[in-house]
Amino acid sequence: MNLSQFPRRRYTEGQTPLEFLPRLTQELGGPNIWIKRDDLLGLAGGGNKTRKLEFLVADALAQGADTLITCGAVQSNHCRLTLAAACKEGLRCYLVLEERVPGSYNAKASGNNFLFQLMGVAGITVVPGGSDLMEAMEKVAADVRNQGGNPYIIPGGGSNAVGTMGYVACAEEILAQAFDKELTIDCVVCTSGSGGTHAGLAVGFWGNNTGIPVVGINISRPNATQRPLIYKDAKATAERLGLDFPEEFVECVEGYVGPGYSLPTKEMVEAVELMARTEAILLDPVYTGKTFSGLIGLIRQGQFKKGQNVVFVHTGGSPALYHYKDYFEQ
Ligand SMILES: *Cc1c(COP(=O)(O)O)cnc(C)c1O
Repeated sequence: MNLSQFPRRRYTEGQTPLEFLPRLTQELGGPNIWIKRDDLLGLAGGGNKTRKLEFLVADALAQGADTLITCGAVQSNHCRLTLAAACKEGLRCYLVLEERVPGSYNAKASGNNFLFQLMGVAGITVVPGGSDLMEAMEKVAADVRNQGGNPYIIPGGGSNAVGTMGYVACAEEILAQAFDKELTIDCVVCTSGSGGTHAGLAVGFWGNNTGIPVVGINISRPNATQRPLIYKDAKATAERLGLDFPEEFVECVEGYVGPGYSLPTKEMVEAVELMARTEAILLDPVYTGKTFSGLIGLIRQGQFKKGQNVVFVHTGGSPALYHYKDYFEQ
């Protein structure tokens, strides 16, 4: 697949590590667990949105934009990283924050919210959960245009056919690292949220004819709505590469969301504590903690054999961990 045909900025020096986790593997007694450290990507605090932004911001610059507008939840990692990219590029950045949990926005909150202020966000609009976020961002864009600016809107999570290319690139990076380590990968496990990570990895591993399954653990929706979302994004991304992506390659796992997006589960707490106590790697409660609880669940159900190699993609999020410390004190 030729990714060099798309404009791209670079926000990470080299590759993120692909590491074996011996103590965690031993503790769980299942397959060998490897981790792709995308929590160590570039831009403030790291995390998966950095890869998507390499392609999205390049597209914005190609269109002459001077302002980025995006949206997310009140502790959005994606908003933090979009703002970080804007800082580096000398662009302005406006955020639309959705109160998915009623009353959850607090201008003085820590975590990512603090970083919005620290990095000098141009403006924040808070809207109630379930609002039409594209409409809210279009309104901000109209204001920017009225003031003579040239806005570029990035959808929630950066998950469209432009941003998702970042995770097609990640799949190729993992394949190159596995080749160097003479590692045979049996399965890749990632978060399935707004979808770009899951869809991009699926396109990358499928498009390189590897036969390696990519399993997405849902962190907000049931399979009935998550699978079509992933398929739509994967299909649109593959089309830009001249490929026809097969729906059967979309694999989602439900059952680990608990009461709702960003709300704690006891499995998530166990997962975050286990990763911290065996490997000193920090997960987050909203995404990677629930995703890892899903992987633990699959291992306990006997979905993998001893000796198989599973790659867990760490998509970041630890800057929000401190905001949620009450989840770990029950
Ligand atoms: C956004 C995010 C995800 C989900 O990735 P999508 O591409 O939106 O599905 C996973 N982990 C972290 C830490 C995130 O911020």
